Amino acid sequence: MKRHFKCFDSRINCGLKYSRCDVVGIRDVGGELSGETETICIEVKRGTEPFATASGQALGYRVYGNRVYLADVRANKFSNDELAIASTLGIGLIHISKKMHCTEVLSSPYYNPMTRLNLLLLQRMAIAQCRLCGTFFRTGDENNRNKFVTRENLKNAIKYEKGMIFWNWDLGQRKAKLGIEHTKGTTTWERRYICPDCISRVLIQIVPSDWTE
Ligand SMILES: [Zn+2]
Repeated sequence: MKRHFKCFDSRINCGLKYSRCDVVGIRDVGGELSGETETICIEVKRGTEPFATASGQALGYRVYGNRVYLADVRANKFSNDELAIASTLGIGLIHISKKMHCTEVLSSPYYNPMTRLNLLLLQRMAIAQCRLCGTFFRTGDENNRNKFVTRENLKNAIKYEKGMIFWNWDLGQRKAKLGIEHTKGTTTWERRYICPDCISRVLIQIVPSDWTE
């Protein structure tokens, strides 16, 4: 993931209740004027499963990611039929040799995943989107997904050079009224993030001067 696809982060066996991806990676593709990223999902097989079934499983990751791949461990190359099946379905192929050397044989087309599932998957990797600049950043580690952000505390975010998480109460209640989300009483799950860069370079300019002394 890191060497070939230039992913800045990756996980194995990561997913939601609907299914789990064997490998997930995230990479920057936005050029120098945006923080756009792509999520890459890979299904890994040992070369023994029926090919179209395995391909369908990889294709299902479209709901989570922008590019989907089937990686197969095998001594021989993919056959012409297999290449045709993969390109008809619209999945990429990665050949894994017996010595565990990976080669991208067919590129995956670009897909628009379901936004909510993509963001939930990335949150499992402790990665969130900054609502100010749009880039994706690390919010914590495996033990504490919000280790590198403060809870609605801009002053501490500046002091400790962290990002920030905050909760959208009005939106949470609007969704709760219609039964879309589960905001209840004093609890809402409706949450957003701001990255450390936006805090230390933009928001810092509008806070009282004694905050930054
Ligand atoms: Zn930002």
